[in-house]
Amino acid sequence: LMNLTKKLIGIRTILLSIGQSESLTLPSIVVIGSQSSGKSSVLEAIVGHEFLPKGNNMVTRRPIELTLIHTPDAAAEYGVFPALGLGKMTDFKQIQKTLTDLNLAVPASECVSDEPIDLRIYSPHVPDLTLIDLPGYIQLASMDQPEELKEKIAALCDRYIREPNVILAVCAADVDLANSPALRASKRVDPLGLRTIGVVTKMDLVPPETGAAILEGNRYPLHLGYVGVVAKHTPGEARRAGRRDDENLSSAVARKEDSYFNSHKDQFGAKSVMVGTSTLRQRLMEVLEARMSSSLHGITNAVQLELEEASYQFKVQYNDRRITAESYVAETMDALKARFKDYTAAFRKPQIRAKLKGMLDEKVMDVLEQLYWGDKRTAELSSLAGDAKVRAENLEPYWQYKLEAASSLLTKSGVGRDSTNLVADGLRNLIDSIASGEPYSFHPEAADRIVQFSHAILRERLGVTSDQVENCIKPYKMKSEVEMDDREWEAGRERAVSLYEKELASCQDQLASIKKRVGGNRKLSSLLGYVTKLEEEERSKAAMRLALSTTPKEDDKDGEAAPEASTPSLLDNYRYNPAHVVDARRAAAYIDRLAILKLRLAALRSKRCRAGPENDAFCPEVFLNVVAEKLAYTSAMFINIELLDQFFYQFPREIDSRLMYDLDRAEITRFARENPSIRRHLDLQDRKDKLEDVMKQLQGLVNLRKDTQPTARRQ
Ligand code: GDP
Repeated sequence: LMNLTKKLIGIRTILLSIGQSESLTLPSIVVIGSQSSGKSSVLEAIVGHEFLPKGNNMVTRRPIELTLIHTPDAAAEYGVFPALGLGKMTDFKQIQKTLTDLNLAVPASECVSDEPIDLRIYSPHVPDLTLIDLPGYIQLASMDQPEELKEKIAALCDRYIREPNVILAVCAADVDLANSPALRASKRVDPLGLRTIGVVTKMDLVPPETGAAILEGNRYPLHLGYVGVVAKHTPGEARRAGRRDDENLSSAVARKEDSYFNSHKDQFGAKSVMVGTSTLRQRLMEVLEARMSSSLHGITNAVQLELEEASYQFKVQYNDRRITAESYVAETMDALKARFKDYTAAFRKPQIRAKLKGMLDEKVMDVLEQLYWGDKRTAELSSLAGDAKVRAENLEPYWQYKLEAASSLLTKSGVGRDSTNLVADGLRNLIDSIASGEPYSFHPEAADRIVQFSHAILRERLGVTSDQVENCIKPYKMKSEVEMDDREWEAGRERAVSLYEKELASCQDQLASIKKRVGGNRKLSSLLGYVTKLEEEERSKAAMRLALSTTPKEDDKDGEAAPEASTPSLLDNYRYNPAHVVDARRAAAYIDRLAILKLRLAALRSKRCRAGPENDAFCPEVFLNVVAEKLAYTSAMFINIELLDQFFYQFPREIDSRLMYDLDRAEITRFARENPSIRRHLDLQDRKDKLEDVMKQLQGLVNLRKDTQPTARRQ
């Protein structure tokens, strides 16, 4: 039946990995004792190596879950810290160093930590055992070991000495057992000592009679008894004492113990007292095996219940659908590419052209406002357009120059840069919205990478694209180089008309809302009258000052004071709300704007503007509109080639190379687990799988026992 412990230790490890639940706990041996009682020496003698943290101030600050795995056919001995992923450690000095580091990593403010260190040791020289090494009890609180630490350690030990664990209570022979905190703690939870083994260390420090009396256990009886040991060893002891280089520490200690106990045969040989670390090992194996064996039934039932619950939840929550971290990552990347592809529809040529045209329309209106709407002579140009007698070639050169200036203002306004930025901003917004939405909101690092590499692609293409666009619109920068036919002209005229109609409507809206604000038509009229007067007065004041031509310095002072001095006369007559005055000034501007727009609309609808490109100087709006259309067309074409095609080609490849291919298994798992719903799914699935596996193994063990026990009884 020796296999039972080994199998159950394996099962115990699996169960621990799905979370510590009381009902799913298989027994382990918990080692408690006060500081310097010889706990470490005993554990090292059992393992056969020095591997525990040493040092005066070096208390064990975290529980060490020590799993010993007997590997009869292997020569190598090594340790593994599964949580650290450091692989096999064949050098026990290295293990000692790692444990020391892990202990020291617990901040001094916390003193001790509940989080166990998982250490597995594989060796042909160790028995199959699980031992939990706990921080040693502090007898007397001192400066560097405060009261609080003492209590924390006691509480931690209390948690571990519960059922079903076996308690290994370590006491030193030279200290009165009545003072042993280990025995006292065990008495509280196991008064009969049914699951407590006493280990009496430092047997060599008391007279053999005294030692033997302690082991008889008459004063503090324990059902499982006491084992006396002499576990002391000094660094390198095994090698020195053993003479054979490969001698194990266990054998070295055992040899010393043999010589000690044999030399006191009278006290230890005759009686049925247990002595020596090898006896202790044997005893631990028997006791653990018995505990494990009696746990078998209970744990099988508990696992069965847990498994049923997990299977039910898996069915209900996920309809038994299995996932893997890899499948999640692959699906997420595919979904990203698919989603990106959908979005790119908004970046086809016609859509880009329309966007750019919108931007250029704005530019056209800005140019018109700057050069035409404020020019008093524009009204004149409008009436000339309607006058059939005026021939195009007789139009003043003024208007030709003006059109050339307007065209050049439009084409030199940074079309390459602005149009490229417009499209790039669109792409950036698209990427940012993908990166900030699900599931990337769960994967901030991946989202960040997506944003980084897409912005990098854009940055790299921006300059080239903008230069290329600028280069290709060069021909339009000379008005004489721009060619347009009647069809283009007419289309441009229609667009110009509709742009003006829109502008007209928006001016009317603004005016209407001002009217409403100031309190109606009549109120606005009187406000306008007031503003006009005010302006006239300001103008005449300015003229007067100019005529008087005082010295500039004094004039400045007067100039500031003058309008204020003059306004009271008006303000006395009409008390207007200052905000309304501002509104009225704006209204006046809108009224002027409406007048010019109406004139220009009439011109654009005139026969002359309909006639064709030869009348361009009469109808600058049409000409600029046709140029804007050409600019939009050309820009869209080159932005498509230089920016969009490149971006759409590179983006999915970057997903593969920057998000996917450099992920190793652990990173894939970590990525998938960032998504809480995936994490829950994986956890439940994992729990169910492990419980199924454990259940199968447990049933195997139960069946094995059914087969063997009746035979055993018959014998
Ligand atoms: P821990 O603090 O409980 O882990 O105790 P250690 O194993 O570090 O031992 C404390 C001290 O007691 C060390 O100096 C050991 O060498 C010494 N020691 C341990 N076991 C024995 C023993 O059986 N006999 C003697 N004489 N000294 C021992």
